[in-house]
Amino acid sequence: MAFIKINKQHFYHNLNQIALQTGSVDKIAIVLKDNAYGHGLKTIGKLASEFGVKHAVVRTTKEAREIASFFSTVLVLGDEIIQDEKLSFTINSIEAIDKAEVGARVELKVDTGMHRNGISIDELDDALKGIEQKELKLVGVMTHFRSADELSSELFWQQKRFASVCKKVKKAGFTEVRVHSHNSAAILRTKHFNEDLVRVGIGAYGYNELPSSFDTITLKPVMELWVKRVSTRLLQKGERIGYGGTFTASHAMEVSTYDLGYGDGWFRADTMQPFKTAEGLEILGRVSMDFISLESTKDEVCIVSNAQDAAKQLGTISYEVTTALNPHIQRDVV
Ligand SMILES: *Cc1c(COP(=O)(O)O)cnc(C)c1O
Repeated sequence: MAFIKINKQHFYHNLNQIALQTGSVDKIAIVLKDNAYGHGLKTIGKLASEFGVKHAVVRTTKEAREIASFFSTVLVLGDEIIQDEKLSFTINSIEAIDKAEVGARVELKVDTGMHRNGISIDELDDALKGIEQKELKLVGVMTHFRSADELSSELFWQQKRFASVCKKVKKAGFTEVRVHSHNSAAILRTKHFNEDLVRVGIGAYGYNELPSSFDTITLKPVMELWVKRVSTRLLQKGERIGYGGTFTASHAMEVSTYDLGYGDGWFRADTMQPFKTAEGLEILGRVSMDFISLESTKDEVCIVSNAQDAAKQLGTISYEVTTALNPHIQRDVV
């Protein structure tokens, strides 16, 4: 079975870099949604808590329950709002307030320009009224930036809108709320962080998806993807490998089958542009459901040591490469 190595030192290096940006570890909320971006929900939750991170963000209540014991607060981004002592739930729309369980702890998401989730600024007064009527405990106000990773003035405008929303909320008497808007891209480019929390995902896992002009903070990839050898054969010149026989041996070569395929969340990609592993080996022919072929006899081969480099070859971004990896793959902390 393919396996994933989680580099604890790299993870802690990244958390340290982020803590330098926020001014304190206490302001970090580690985003653990989607199996901690493929790194392993419980593995990363435990490591983060051992580092001193006190807050986590997940997508579902089910995920939250698995890691709640590691943290003082857990924010659920996209699930039904229920009453719970520790978990808080994102209000993504006015309807969500009507459906919420009385007494639930909630964080109000305000749409400042992303236009995916959150109440619009016009709905703010209604939302605050609804929260009071439903006796919900408002513990946070948040927004999400649509262009934090681009060179433009949009981030600036969204920040201005958010600041005025936060002011209104506090003026309405909700003083015990934490304020948070930054994701990785926003915290990596900010110079004067003055909010209560940063929701950091991809940056903690070692990737900076900002244009290179913002590349001042060095992050280190936390994950490595490895495969194990299943069998080896000697191919003669002219023999072909795999479904469709799209790879033809140009010389006699020793080829081994390794245990990774699209069933594990690996990308089938394009046989015309073979994927090159971390060690520079080409994947030969088509990727099968559970197997690939490499010209190697090594028992273990590292396929990816940097998901951003891998993503460039595959025409996507680091998020997709790591998140796609099947949760059943063994994750070991090294
Ligand atoms: C996923 C997510 C984040 C984390 O974003 P990164 O770019 O991975 O740091 C932050 N906030 C919300 C609302 C999210 O959904």
